[in-house]
Amino acid sequence: MERLTPGAWQIATVVGIKQETHSVRSYRLKLAEWVPHLPGQHYDVRLTAPDGYRAQRSYSVASSPLDAGEIELTVDRLPDGEVSAYFHEVLVVGDQIEVRGPFASYFVWRGEEPALLVGGASGIVPLMSMLRHRRLTSPGSAMRLIYSVRTADDVIFADELGEESFITFSRRPPEGWMGHTGRIDAGLVSRAAFGEGVAYVCGSNGFVETASGLLLDAGYGPQQIKTERFGPTS
Ligand SMILES: Cc1cc2nc3c(=O)[nH]c(=O)nc-3n(C[C@H](O)[C@H](O)[C@H](O)COP(=O)(O)OP(=O)(O)OC[C@H]3O[C@@H](n4cnc5c(N)ncnc54)[C@H](O)[C@@H]3O)c2cc1C
Repeated sequence: MERLTPGAWQIATVVGIKQETHSVRSYRLKLAEWVPHLPGQHYDVRLTAPDGYRAQRSYSVASSPLDAGEIELTVDRLPDGEVSAYFHEVLVVGDQIEVRGPFASYFVWRGEEPALLVGGASGIVPLMSMLRHRRLTSPGSAMRLIYSVRTADDVIFADELGEESFITFSRRPPEGWMGHTGRIDAGLVSRAAFGEGVAYVCGSNGFVETASGLLLDAGYGPQQIKTERFGPTS
């Protein structure tokens, strides 16, 4: 089959929807012209209204590229959000939407190790693709995840966070929580960091700034820190 050049718009069909948290859902899309992505890559989604008005946003792939023919996008519904609201309020199984991708960027995991993943809120989405793919292809490779969320109700992919995960609850920890609380800090980074290899940081602008600064302080060089920014606020 001739490979579609990433960047061409195509129709995707929603084949599954999973409620992850009160505000986050995962959408499994079947693609007519699927190509394997690299963990960390994203797709663009385009909505077109009957009057021709268009809105376009980027969404990271959460699934492993071994899920042939399908991708999973995990969308946080933002207050007043245009496209995220469409996902949550309009899309149902069987619907079709326009997507294009996967888009290459330097924010990809090609098997580098050790790999430290650092995610804030929905910033965990591309990191989950890396975690899932590593579990399927090289479960022995060194990978750890630092994940910052506000409360226990905000943990996305809760049933997939294993012993490689260092979670911190920035607002309200669950009852009896003995782990880290508060925003990501030097102590948490030093416990999880390998000090070598590559660090992947994803989240809001503020989260990425803070986490990158902590990684630099922990001895990571600028070339060892790859970042992806989702949006304006934390
Ligand atoms: C490479 C890339 C990958 C991304 N992957 C994901 C993903 O996997 N899952 C996901 O949920 N989102 C992801 N995003 C963010 C996504 O593209 C949209 O920005 C987000 O869904 C908001 O779009 P909207 O149309 O709902 O909100 P808009 O209508 O654009 O904005 C509504 C309000 O929310 C604010 N806002 C916009 N974006 C954000 C944001 N990201 N965080 C906080 N406030 C914001 C706006 O300032 C505005 O006040 C990604 C962004 C990029 C650049």
